[in-house]
Amino acid sequence: MKTRDYQVLDRAHHLHPFTDFKALGEEGSRIIERAEGVYIHDSEGNCILDGMAGLWCVNLGYGRHELVEAATAQLERLPYYNNFFKTTHPPAVKLAEKLVQLAPEHINHVFFVGSGSEANDTVLRMVRRYWALKGRPQKQWIIGRENGYHGSTLAGMSLGGMDVMHGQGGPCVPNIAHIRQPYWFGEGRDMSPESFGRECAAALEAKIQELGEENVAAFIAEPVQGAGGAIMPPESYWPAVKEVLARYDILLVADEVICGFGRLGEWFGSIHYDLKPDLMPIAKGLSSGYLPIGGVLVGDRVADTLIEEGGEFFHGFTYSGHPACAAVALKNLELIEAEGVVDRVRDDLGPYLARRWGELVEHPLVGEARSLGLMGALELVDPETGERFDKVLGVGNLCRDFSFAGGLVMRSVGDTMIISPPLVITHNEIDELVTKARAALDATLADLCQPATEESIA
Ligand SMILES: *Cc1c(COP(=O)(O)O)cnc(C)c1O
Repeated sequence: MKTRDYQVLDRAHHLHPFTDFKALGEEGSRIIERAEGVYIHDSEGNCILDGMAGLWCVNLGYGRHELVEAATAQLERLPYYNNFFKTTHPPAVKLAEKLVQLAPEHINHVFFVGSGSEANDTVLRMVRRYWALKGRPQKQWIIGRENGYHGSTLAGMSLGGMDVMHGQGGPCVPNIAHIRQPYWFGEGRDMSPESFGRECAAALEAKIQELGEENVAAFIAEPVQGAGGAIMPPESYWPAVKEVLARYDILLVADEVICGFGRLGEWFGSIHYDLKPDLMPIAKGLSSGYLPIGGVLVGDRVADTLIEEGGEFFHGFTYSGHPACAAVALKNLELIEAEGVVDRVRDDLGPYLARRWGELVEHPLVGEARSLGLMGALELVDPETGERFDKVLGVGNLCRDFSFAGGLVMRSVGDTMIISPPLVITHNEIDELVTKARAALDATLADLCQPATEESIA
């Protein structure tokens, strides 16, 4: 089949995630056929540097035979069995052991699920169950953040703070509140990052007081917001948040679905920021995306209560700890460990990306270039004013399209351009990524500078 044939069938039958179905149908989707290392190849013969590691997940890059072999060997031996009703299988047991070994010391248990969204559904139920067991069932409220992302199931989207999602398919799960995000470039530039970070933590305390501390169960946040725009909080933010949570005896849920497994140069974002969370939802990079698997890492405080006082926990999924997925995840973690990937991100690739990516701040369209580990963002601004563009202009999407056409997957979140490449990217490939990102910025600027035609005015 040729590109056109795929596109016709795709438009006829396939409803894509997070997509304007009609607009895509008119444009036609891009068909990705194969991939190797950090590159994806489309059906038109284009080779594209995948600056997003798929959807933040292909941490070890494409074409890793060890992961394929782990999957096939397990599929032949035991393709499926469940972990319900007092049974398990070796891959689930070994993966649990490995995860706990890598997690912070106070975390010794994991509950397996199939995705990040299911992990956060599990979080919601575990948190409320925990407080009920502690004799405080009124502790029901969970506080999340505006522009946070915790998945797309009903619980995931309710915990997340994406307005556009809340606006469809509601009402959301009750007793979830949101506070402002620690997004300095977007919302705090009238003060220093450090003051702004403290102010955002103060918003948490204000919300707790508003809801009544006796009613608040947990605070959920990504160590660094991913889908919201690769937003690294000011250094003052997390210490202040931790202090508030401890003072009011509220659980911390660190959503590690993106930050986990090396993205920020530590095994978990919580280690980078020294968070000591009670619960850590994980997915994505857990298997480098080769097969779907997620989990919730459960700290001793919650796990001991669920185990000692809980009786049966009426929750689980058919594919919780699926043997082939678990086998791939285990091999993935072993490879990351054996190849020293996490240290390399922290000591070499992260600093190198920070230097090269940071150079883009010289570009007239760029108001800020930031990165941590192998996650980065560019804030696009109007070169005339240094202020952000009117949203309706869609400058970020324009830049993304130029980037894709120029051989780089760089995503846009509004007018924030983001990258999150595979953790096995080389210096040369980082150079290529930066060169292509700059070319996309140049093309965007040239397009904006063209005298408006009658068509574009209409
Ligand atoms: C992607 C993501 C999720 C949802 O994971 P899915 O596997 O898509 O359900 C949850 N939390 C964060 C932080 C994510 O980035």
